[in-house]
Amino acid sequence: MKIDILTLFPNSFKPLTESILERASESGKIEINLINIRDYSKDKHKKCDDYTFGGGPGMVMMVQPIFDAMNSIDGVDRAHKIYLSPKGKVFNQKIARKLATYNHLVFLCGHYEGVDQRVIDNFIDEEISIGDYVLTGGELPAMVVIDSVVRLLDGVLGGIESADIESFENNLLEYPQYTKPREFNGMTVPEVLFSGDHKKVDLWRKQEAEKLTRERRPDLWEKYISDKKLEN
Ligand code: SAM
Repeated sequence: MKIDILTLFPNSFKPLTESILERASESGKIEINLINIRDYSKDKHKKCDDYTFGGGPGMVMMVQPIFDAMNSIDGVDRAHKIYLSPKGKVFNQKIARKLATYNHLVFLCGHYEGVDQRVIDNFIDEEISIGDYVLTGGELPAMVVIDSVVRLLDGVLGGIESADIESFENNLLEYPQYTKPREFNGMTVPEVLFSGDHKKVDLWRKQEAEKLTRERRPDLWEKYISDKKLEN
């Protein structure tokens, strides 16, 4: 998957060069390009923002540098282009799964009061929010979305970790997990996990996942119950 990120702050993307994402880059599963919007400003001081027409507080990112930065991307017309925005659809695992099916994603990170609407109208296929709160820029949201999408790509997690049994798959939160030692400071691990009976273990995990979801996320629990009714 090719990923282009348009930003005024390319140095913020260090977390994408660590751990699983680093491995995904090294193995060629993803190619991430950081595009500094400022490099495309035609202003002699490389200015990229200006006052809002009609008045109001704050600055808006200008249309020209973003247009030119977008047009510098090879295959931009065929790419799926996302603007990170508090006004967008709230991100979830289902959207992550859909984004993981594209070959080429472009992320536009806003700053200040956001970007000139003409950029959105001309280029953007989808606006995504990472939650109902306002951040200073789209850089952290872009990293959140990219991290969750890349780990779903074939071969990125390898045989060790699996995305299929995690929280939000099938609208359930994940069951509790334990590892060595079997006893620590008097705290033990549920006996069933040592029974060697896979059916019993699966049943225990399902019951724990259902209990957690019912207690913590009534919204997910409703979806889980209604999907189950449809299956029967
Ligand atoms: N004036 C905008 C509004 O009220 O909707 C907020 C602009 S915010 C200070 C600056 C930039 O941060 C946005 O252009 C967007 O790219 C990013 N941003 C802030 N909160 C976000 C969120 N919850 N999800 C995704 N992007 C966000």
